[in-house]
Amino acid sequence: MEIEFIRSLRKRLPHSPQLAVGPGDDAAILHPDGSVVTCDLLCDGTHFSVGTDSALSIGRKTLAVNLSDLAAMAAQPIAAFLAVALPRDEASIAENLLDGMLPLAEQFDVALAGGDTNVWDGRLVVSITLIGRCPHQPLLRSGAKPGDHLLVTGVLGGSRMGKHFDFTPRIAEALYLQKHHTLHAGIDCSDGLSLDAARLAEESGCGVAIDLPAIPLSGAAREMASKDDTLSATDRALGDGEDFELLLAVPADEAKALIAAQPLATPLTKIGTFIEAPGLWQGTENFRPLPVTGYEHRI
Ligand SMILES: [Mg+2]
Repeated sequence: MEIEFIRSLRKRLPHSPQLAVGPGDDAAILHPDGSVVTCDLLCDGTHFSVGTDSALSIGRKTLAVNLSDLAAMAAQPIAAFLAVALPRDEASIAENLLDGMLPLAEQFDVALAGGDTNVWDGRLVVSITLIGRCPHQPLLRSGAKPGDHLLVTGVLGGSRMGKHFDFTPRIAEALYLQKHHTLHAGIDCSDGLSLDAARLAEESGCGVAIDLPAIPLSGAAREMASKDDTLSATDRALGDGEDFELLLAVPADEAKALIAAQPLATPLTKIGTFIEAPGLWQGTENFRPLPVTGYEHRI
């Protein structure tokens, strides 16, 4: 539903020469100055729960999800603008949100440059607009080619056990790979491997086949699967979302060299191949359709 909703909104936006990259990627790129801009909004009850999650971790997560979108563009962050709608009787939460953001801002050299706060009768809503710059070529969703390998950083699934709050945005990894290697396309895995891989393929005008046994599964995914057998650990990797790892389309020879060299602190794994036939598939040959199970907002 969310995909259709965004698609129909995108159709209404006039083409602008002020955009080098417009809606449809992890961030926009402005023309001619090259600024990379992304905006994410997190709501109490959807992305976190004020009753159970600390304001510190909510604040950190709000900045971290935006950093992950800049990582998906191979962009270096510069400055963040924070907008908060505070519940009327809990306005003091703003201090703790900031306490959660500041260490991450320092770690990634992000200036907190301004924003806006309001008090209202609703629940907590936090949004950050983050601006960055690409020191190398921007990494887009649209460059994957049939024959490219699909690589992923880290491990997937079960993020609700904690990773959705304490993940490290893959900025350093994206910048390193874009500087030293040939990447055709990339996206951050925020809504589940199956949905984000399908998005990457769709924006590139091709399909992607995922080799399910090759998916690197997190300990949390395995643990959740052992407690609840309605979903396997692989199902969790495909559909849970909020892993905030990078999905990359890499030319086959380059991908083989990268997998052999493992140049990052986190593992890089080949989990699929881009193919001519549009859509999401499973297998390594005689591909079969793979349902998209990632997280979509109900609109
Ligand atoms: Mg993203």
